[in-house]
Amino acid sequence: MQINLLGARVDAVDLAGAVEKVAAFIATGRPHQVITLNPEILYRAQQEPELLALINQADLVTADGIGIVWAAGVAGTPVPGRVTGIDLMLALVERAAREGWRVFLLGAAPGVAEEAARRLQEKHPGLVVAGTQHGYFRPAEEGPAGGAVGTSPAHTPGNSPNNSTGGLPENPKVPTEWDVVQQVRSAKPDLLFVALGAPKQEKFIARHKEVLGVPVAMGVGGSFDVIAG
Ligand code: UDP
Repeated sequence: MQINLLGARVDAVDLAGAVEKVAAFIATGRPHQVITLNPEILYRAQQEPELLALINQADLVTADGIGIVWAAGVAGTPVPGRVTGIDLMLALVERAAREGWRVFLLGAAPGVAEEAARRLQEKHPGLVVAGTQHGYFRPAEEGPAGGAVGTSPAHTPGNSPNNSTGGLPENPKVPTEWDVVQQVRSAKPDLLFVALGAPKQEKFIARHKEVLGVPVAMGVGGSFDVIAG
């Protein structure tokens, strides 16, 4: 069942129900977007019609936040409970290890996705990690790598002795958004977890869904940091 909260569609699913939906999406092989909707994003969507439209175009929207669950109840259309990004990610990883679904971890600071993947594989030895990539790439406006002669990368590291670029390595070859999209596409994952923070991650997925060609992509906020410890 779907409910409507402040113009946004929310699916009345619990964690197990969300996992089953994802399994069905993967079975189709076509791209799908899953959003765990928190109150901050729902609030922001009231001022940003494009964000609201993006939420309503997603294939599965879960209530991520007690405020959303509460509001749904008050509206007379209760949802079974919270389904957070990290809970859904962990449940999907566990299922992925059993089903042989390939997972890709995109986002967080350099090294974090790799460490998160390592820990997940330690816990689930059968887990196939199709790839990892940090989340501090250059924006798409700059075009494909090498194509935009003369443009300066948004995150050129090493400009300041204090390295104010959020922990980027001293490496001028910071990939562009296009490079990253191509990297994910060629890794052919079944599940893509994107940790860029909300709503950046949701916008990234919506923008590249078709080219990425990944059956299920979802934003997971700070989950990689939590898993990597
Ligand atoms: N992040 C990233 N690229 C960016 C901005 C953020 O990879 O350009 C990562 C950041 O390192 C962190 C995550 O995105 O791992 C955001 O976590 P946060 O808890 O702030 O997200 P929220 O849960 O609030 O959506």
